[in-house]
Amino acid sequence: MVITRFAPSPTGPLHLGHAYSALLAWDMAREAGGTFVLRIEDIDQSRARQKWERQIYDDLHWLGLSWPEPVLRQSQNLNRYVCTLRTLWSYGLIYPCTCTRRDVIAASTAPQEGDFPPHGPDGLIYPGTCRGAKARAASGPMPRGVALRLDMEAAFDVLAARGPLQFTETGEGQARDVEITRDHALNDIGDVVLARRDMGTSYHLAVVIDDAAQGITHVTRGADLFDATAIHVILQRLLDLPTPVYHHHRLIRDEDGKRLAKRDDARAIATYRAAGETPDDIRRRVGLPVAR
Ligand code: GLU
Repeated sequence: MVITRFAPSPTGPLHLGHAYSALLAWDMAREAGGTFVLRIEDIDQSRARQKWERQIYDDLHWLGLSWPEPVLRQSQNLNRYVCTLRTLWSYGLIYPCTCTRRDVIAASTAPQEGDFPPHGPDGLIYPGTCRGAKARAASGPMPRGVALRLDMEAAFDVLAARGPLQFTETGEGQARDVEITRDHALNDIGDVVLARRDMGTSYHLAVVIDDAAQGITHVTRGADLFDATAIHVILQRLLDLPTPVYHHHRLIRDEDGKRLAKRDDARAIATYRAAGETPDDIRRRVGLPVAR
């Protein structure tokens, strides 16, 4: 049974890029006789707005999409994320971090170099400043209201016994297996934040838990999230969760070749609707077949 999903954050209007992503997931499910699922990724309550959530439902219905109700809203799932963090804490795989972004930059950049510090899929690669306090912290209960980072090296020590770490990518041309090596994880990803201080969770943790909870078999999303997939597969393996097939699709760009941003109202689905375009016009605009 194929289950695909579209997982927007209600922080602005859906634009053509979102329409492409949602329609692709919808078409994929329909072709396989499967199910398309919608999930609202609203863990960032400082940016999420009811207004945008309503607009998401409205735009997607207008495009001809439907999904099982009730819709999973991540803001209502916070307990689940905390429980999973407690599991990782009990395994000794996460540690508290009190560094500010400025601390991370300062610790990453040698003064004489002045180079921009190395970046991974989660922003700056963490130099490990707080990792030393891990042993002290681990004896007590998991702290709240502080950032929690994955100890990538400890994670790989656990994963080493579990065979090669890989996922299937069907996005660009032929399906291929992508392997995630220890070197790549330590040098190019590092100790990512799994719980932000202000949220109690993170995109990476929430997406992994919810994809598994919703039984997602095929994750369809923009190519900009390809690099983050390694983090998701690592977490799935640590938590004994299944790894879906990943389909990272091309990004829809504007005339200047720039990817569309949430604030790009000119390409908001609502703008095309107001101008009298039809759902098939949107399909044509993003290069998807019409008349299904
Ligand atoms: N919520 C994310 C976004 O709106 C998408 C996450 C995903 O598809 O994994 O960009």
